[in-house]
Amino acid sequence: MTAPRPLDQSSKLKNVLYEIRGAALAEATRLESAGHTILKLNTGNPAIFGFEAPYQIVRDMLRAVPTAHGYTDARGIVEARRAIVSRYENVPGFPRFDVDDVYLGNGVSELITMTTQALLDEGDEVLIPAPDYPLWTAMTSLSGGTPVHYLADEDNGWQPDLEDIRSKVTPRTKAIVVINPNNPTGAVYSREVLEGIAQIARENSLLILSDEIYDRILYDDAVHTSMAQVAPDLLCLTFNGLSKTYRVAGYRAGWLVITGPHDHAAGFLEGIQLLASTRLSPNAPGQHAVLAALTGSQSIDALIAPSGRLHQQRDISWEGLNSIPGVSCVKPEGALYAFPRLDPEVHEIHDDKKLIYDLLKAEHILLVEGTGFNWATPDHLRVVNLPEPRVLSEAIERLGNFLASYRQ
Ligand code: PLP
Repeated sequence: MTAPRPLDQSSKLKNVLYEIRGAALAEATRLESAGHTILKLNTGNPAIFGFEAPYQIVRDMLRAVPTAHGYTDARGIVEARRAIVSRYENVPGFPRFDVDDVYLGNGVSELITMTTQALLDEGDEVLIPAPDYPLWTAMTSLSGGTPVHYLADEDNGWQPDLEDIRSKVTPRTKAIVVINPNNPTGAVYSREVLEGIAQIARENSLLILSDEIYDRILYDDAVHTSMAQVAPDLLCLTFNGLSKTYRVAGYRAGWLVITGPHDHAAGFLEGIQLLASTRLSPNAPGQHAVLAALTGSQSIDALIAPSGRLHQQRDISWEGLNSIPGVSCVKPEGALYAFPRLDPEVHEIHDDKKLIYDLLKAEHILLVEGTGFNWATPDHLRVVNLPEPRVLSEAIERLGNFLASYRQ
């Protein structure tokens, strides 16, 4: 018998980075099987931190399940798409669109993948923030495109640096990704900055891809503005879903809304329809969850109010991180994370992946390194602010103790 031919992964995966579920998670799982308890702060998965699914969503979805066993329209059931149209009719200045401009997906993740696959040819460039939610960079690469990172400015509350964006546009730039509110920084972008991005897109004929999955997770006086609101004259794809605001990430329910002029982009939009059709339909129970969520109460409001759990945890995380010598953290105005900086003068870290490993081994806490979010230097970490206050403050205290003696 001949020896089996070695099977390597496709070279297309060479630049696909997803450290959120990377090697450190494998080590955490190994430690768990050896009987250790690991505090996993690597994913924004509300369910595992005691956030329950809103009852109305569960009930309505369960009622639909007995008749939700068939494929649906590739774009999703029309009732859920209609509910999405109504959701945005209540956002002042959001451009009008029709049910045919809405695609439901198995989470925003699937819709991101479909979009980059439908859009990019070899060498096409996409402007993506650094730090970013790394799926955007990964899927741009996997689709043959070239991710080009523009800077978010930590000294300016992690707002995107317009000059840097402008300097990185080339004749091959096809699209710009905006993640607002931002994962991992928690920044909520100002209207002026969004208008600046829209102007760059206008001048250079860029498609706007706006990931707004945290648009209703805002703290204090933060106000969210959609890219589509400041760019009604441009083709804009807005991504959102149930994973965060409704804490039902496992239902895999997301949507994509297309606004602005379409005629010049008929080919690309047909590509999206083609890819939606090739995967037949999004999961049907999840679509009923969308319908229930958007026609029900906005249960996130109580959690983000000053007395609410998410607001309190944001404060605990931000204050705790800033109290660690040599660590500073911009106050997150939205989303579920903090992205603290380790001052290289105090914490000389050359390899932040190793730092994550060593922290995991010593303290049984799993974080994700800043370079996992396409941040260029090994001087940041991402903390998930989801554990309940007592657990979160203890975790940050242990991080501080660990850093006090840690050297590389
Ligand atoms: N976009 C951002 C910015 C995220 O943070 C996440 C998940 O953490 C996603 C998209 C993926 O969301 P979904 O669960 O809808 O696939």
